Amino acid sequence: MSKSHRSSNIKLLRYVVVIVVILLCALLGIHLMESAPDAGALAGDTSAGLSVETRHLRAEIGRLKQLLAKNSIPNPYEYKENLPIIYAVTPTHSRPLQKAELTRISQTFLLVPNFHWIVVEDSMEKTPLVANLLAKSGIPYTHLNAGTPKEWKLLLNDPQWKKPRGVKQRNAALRWLRENADPARAAVLFFADDDNTYSLELFEEMRGTEKASVWPVGLVGGMVLERPLLDTDDKVVGWSTGWRPQRPFAIDMAGFAINLGLILENPQLEFSFDVPRGYQESTILAITTKEELEPKADKCTKVYVWHTRTENPKLPLKKNKQVDFPHPQFEV
Ligand code: UDP
Ligand code: MN
Repeated sequence: MSKSHRSSNIKLLRYVVVIVVILLCALLGIHLMESAPDAGALAGDTSAGLSVETRHLRAEIGRLKQLLAKNSIPNPYEYKENLPIIYAVTPTHSRPLQKAELTRISQTFLLVPNFHWIVVEDSMEKTPLVANLLAKSGIPYTHLNAGTPKEWKLLLNDPQWKKPRGVKQRNAALRWLRENADPARAAVLFFADDDNTYSLELFEEMRGTEKASVWPVGLVGGMVLERPLLDTDDKVVGWSTGWRPQRPFAIDMAGFAINLGLILENPQLEFSFDVPRGYQESTILAITTKEELEPKADKCTKVYVWHTRTENPKLPLKKNKQVDFPHPQFEV
């Protein structure tokens, strides 16, 4: 095929993809307006209430967002003005499971409107594996890196809980937000570790967060679920947790969201290596009080996020065999 022929084909593809995205967004918009009781309907877009047709349209938008990214075409519908942005911060580190985990969660995030993914690699340099995955994801993103200092790095045979994880990476994301986020724009901050499972409902629950909101987390702390306990006025009064319930906020990192305005107004607030085990969440939530917390997920009765912690694959399967990780030829 001649060069000019190919470039006119690419132009045509761009044109077709942009038109289809515009049509689908318009269709989805009309459908949501029709089925919505009020203008803030998308904020209450609990997936249980969506029709089959709308779900199909949403899946189609996800597919088209990926197609645009693959062909390096900017998405003209990246941010809707009237919907708060969700900034999700994901610390991530190189290991055999990394690409599988990032692929899994990215394909959920792809379906969340007004979403910005801040991925912070625990490394001295950004890796091509993460850069390539983000570039093809179709999700608006920021790619950062911040290596954990040697003295805080987990050693190969250390138990997971021995040292705090994600501290430097989450702080790098806070710094980026303070330098780059528009304070006039409504936005919510959520810490989305790479090894959890997220349901789409979660994001629409957290989107309306005024200060800080909380909800149950499944499969965590040795429990089937951990959850905030509410009184008869639906205020948070305590925590159902199997572990250190005396913590000011006895909740997992995946169990809360904070209005970004609060983070921007409190520039000193950050995570620390110097807090007792299990107190990272309480360090950042010190920005608010238990009484002010906004319970989400149907008064904390629904589970929309799970601390799944995928089992590490046994590599190599047989002893005395070579482990090729990272693989010299393939991004696995
Ligand atoms: N993480 C990291 N560097 C590490 C270990 C973990 O950046 O050395 C990331 C990890 O990818 C995850 C987050 O920090 O997104 C929390 O770590 P992990 O899931 O291991 O902690 P846990 O599930 O025990 O809270
Ligand atoms: Mn985890």
